[in-house]
Amino acid sequence: MLVAGNWKMHKVPSEARVWLAELKRLLPPLDSEAAVLPAFPMLPVAKEVLSGTPIAYGAQDVSPHREGAYTGEVSARMLADLGCRYAIVGHSERRRYHGESDALVAEKAKRLLEEGITPILCVGEPLEVRERGEAVPYTLAQLLGSLKGVEPESPDRLVIAYEPVWAIGTGKNATPEDAEAMHQAIRQALAERYGEAFASRVRVLYGGSVNPKNFADLLSMPNVDGGLVGGASLELESFLALLRMA
Ligand code: 13P
Repeated sequence: MLVAGNWKMHKVPSEARVWLAELKRLLPPLDSEAAVLPAFPMLPVAKEVLSGTPIAYGAQDVSPHREGAYTGEVSARMLADLGCRYAIVGHSERRRYHGESDALVAEKAKRLLEEGITPILCVGEPLEVRERGEAVPYTLAQLLGSLKGVEPESPDRLVIAYEPVWAIGTGKNATPEDAEAMHQAIRQALAERYGEAFASRVRVLYGGSVNPKNFADLLSMPNVDGGLVGGASLELESFLALLRMA
């Protein structure tokens, strides 16, 4: 299991320093892996505070380019040098507000793998697609498009996050049964893409209004291998509560 907190564009480095030190101090013994994913300027702080602890950290995005004249971009090599274990690619907020295509997401995932960073690749349908009954084919097309040419050397080098767009930040989570059905379909598609043995070991996370009240039921589903958590990862108490459940 993996419980990853996507801080999105919240907190500043000085707050992160205090917050992460508290997390370190209060961390319960873990059966699963914990990760925090702050914005880029907080990664040096994460490195300083979390190095030598079991808490992983990573980024929310990465450039599709390796190096060069790309103003404002952050390369996978920079993230690797900062000790990032993970980076999100293809979050729906990037797809929606920055027009990121499946092809671009695949390039980003490839750059991460080249640097030994595990992509957390996000997929998921908007509300109108679910209402049309097309959530599964839509999400699988996004998945396979975003994995084009992406060849992780082992299953622990790939994490998929199913994040239905209508559940993100809305307080409306997918039911455990709906999440399970989609996770099963995702795992099946991964099996066709990478083989059964590989697919069975890829972690498929659920994201979208995860909180301490609904997480245990979601985690009880056989194909839900953890959570990608937004809002509930910002408060120490609720993040710790989620970690204790996983
Ligand atoms: P919320 O948990 O705030 O709904 O956000 C989910 C998300 O987008 C995590 O990447």
